[in-house]
Amino acid sequence: MFEEWLTPEQIASDIQQEADHIRADYEGRVPLFVVVLNGAFVFAADLLRRLHDLRCEVTFLRVSSYWGMASTGELQFIVPLQQSVKGRDVIIVEDIVDTGMTIHQLKAHMRAEGAATVRVATMLFKPDKLEYNDARPDYVGRQIANEFVIGYGLDLDGFARNLDAIYKIKN
Ligand code: 5GP
Repeated sequence: MFEEWLTPEQIASDIQQEADHIRADYEGRVPLFVVVLNGAFVFAADLLRRLHDLRCEVTFLRVSSYWGMASTGELQFIVPLQQSVKGRDVIIVEDIVDTGMTIHQLKAHMRAEGAATVRVATMLFKPDKLEYNDARPDYVGRQIANEFVIGYGLDLDGFARNLDAIYKIKN
């Protein structure tokens, strides 16, 4: 049903380039990375280790907006923000931006909590599906077509997050 689509090497190269962009933009600042659980944990671990020379903090929140393969359009905070974002340069770390609903709501949440700046780093971005203009990510590993993908943190009903490559549905 699924076939391997992005190899671990391709993913690593995407993340390296993304990390280089972030490092160049945040040199001399101390950003707070807000990792969106569950899906972004694999990407975040790789991205942040490639930024080992950037002074930064990392915190997590957990939202749920996706069940199976269809978005419900409602964001639930299962684990709320654990650390104050007041006055901070926040970088939200997402696995994939699809309609942008999650990022749209999270950005509003960060601003309401007093973040100084809010940017978004995502591993994958589906530009054709974007419904919220303010959710266009600032740092993107790879733009992809409108396809459902799994692996590397991305799940299929809770499974497949531990796959080290990214798989898509076989046509
Ligand atoms: P959005 O709010 O941008 O519509 O959706 C974002 C969330 O939906 C992602 O964090 C991810 O959990 C889920 N999602 C969107 N597209 C995919 C996909 O192709 N595969 C998987 N596994 N999850 C996806």
